[in-house]
Amino acid sequence: MQMKEQQKNVRRKSCYQCEGKGYLNIRDCSGEIQRTETCSFCSGKGYTDKSSSIGNY
Ligand SMILES: [Zn+2]
Repeated sequence: MQMKEQQKNVRRKSCYQCEGKGYLNIRDCSGEIQRTETCSFCSGKGYTDKSSSIGNY
């Protein structure tokens, strides 16, 4: 059973904020996942089209 395998041959880079999931897990101070939030960095797409970094690497 193969889910969506990570597409490595596309130019799009997986969003490093959400690791390609398109959302972020919001945790409370104890580490419990409270909720998930659409990643604002990639708008929930899970990848970024921009090849140039923000200089955050
Ligand atoms: Zn993202």
